[in-house]
Amino acid sequence: MQTVFVKNFTLPELENWVESIGERRFRARQLFRHIYARRVRSWQECSDLSKMFRVQLEFGTQLDALTLIEKREAEDGTKKYLFELHDGHSIESVLIPDPPRQTLCISSQVGCALGCKFCVTGSLGFKRNLSVAEIVDQICQVQREHARITNLVFMGMGEPLANYDSVQKAMQIMLDPNGMAFSHRRITVSTAGLIPQLQRLGKESPVNLAISLHAPDDELRTRLMPINTKYPLAQLMEACREYPLPPRKRITFEYILMDGINDEPTHARKLITLLHGVRAKVNLIPLNPHPDIPYFQPPEQRILDFQEILQNARINTLIRQSRGSDIRAACGQLAAQYCRTAKA
Ligand code: SF4
Repeated sequence: MQTVFVKNFTLPELENWVESIGERRFRARQLFRHIYARRVRSWQECSDLSKMFRVQLEFGTQLDALTLIEKREAEDGTKKYLFELHDGHSIESVLIPDPPRQTLCISSQVGCALGCKFCVTGSLGFKRNLSVAEIVDQICQVQREHARITNLVFMGMGEPLANYDSVQKAMQIMLDPNGMAFSHRRITVSTAGLIPQLQRLGKESPVNLAISLHAPDDELRTRLMPINTKYPLAQLMEACREYPLPPRKRITFEYILMDGINDEPTHARKLITLLHGVRAKVNLIPLNPHPDIPYFQPPEQRILDFQEILQNARINTLIRQSRGSDIRAACGQLAAQYCRTAKA
């Protein structure tokens, strides 16, 4: 019999599965509560289930989809978790304390096919999509150690919209009041700009949207992000203008600042033109340098000047300091190091 990963199921799917093995549908809600509210480590902890059902669960299902193999804490409190998957691949999640928020950055794929030139994950290539269980288990496992996670961002390894169905189902579990019970205001999906899936997301989910922009014109963006050839900026920005944003929400544009590449005042001015007509806010992120990336962090004054130009144009602009650089907390860096060590 094939092992069933229970965290792959949304609540309606779990109800169907429970019924298919001869139990009553309401048992699914009990299981959901044990898995996501009580965060049990074993079915034996679920004393309100019959002994026979527990034995059935014990032998036919797998509660955890990930094994924590390494945890590092940076001087600034950022924590990075490296998980092993059942097929030996590894992924990572990063917990970023920013009181009162505690944001968990989660992965959606092993590696990534989009090959952005400033990204360590991109340099790993694409291995496979994560299952629903592998996505939600990153949250469960970190919650077991740190009771409070306030925000979730799909900004770890992978392009979440390239794994649309699993990400969408995982978000149903995150949003389900019987499941993880996160508010849609606390979940952000970040994409390099897969337009068809982005349009689908707008129709199907009220979560926050972030666009990994990183360049204000096609020539530079194509150089940094090859996906721009398929979905150039004019199309991407049109999709953003048409995105069905709930009232008071804005689209976040992530812009990693790289020394001498995209950090000149001319780039800032082009960015202002590009964002015209979009309810936007901009996060400027000074690059977290890495030996595998041929780019560097700009001097502080250039970062501040860039921000000032945007703010003078009344664009809400924050500088997000790179967190946990002493533990390689930028996207894909710990997994990349682990892969290299494993290969050595
Ligand atoms: S930045 Fe995101 S989309 Fe680009 S290669 Fe890295 S993980 Fe993939």
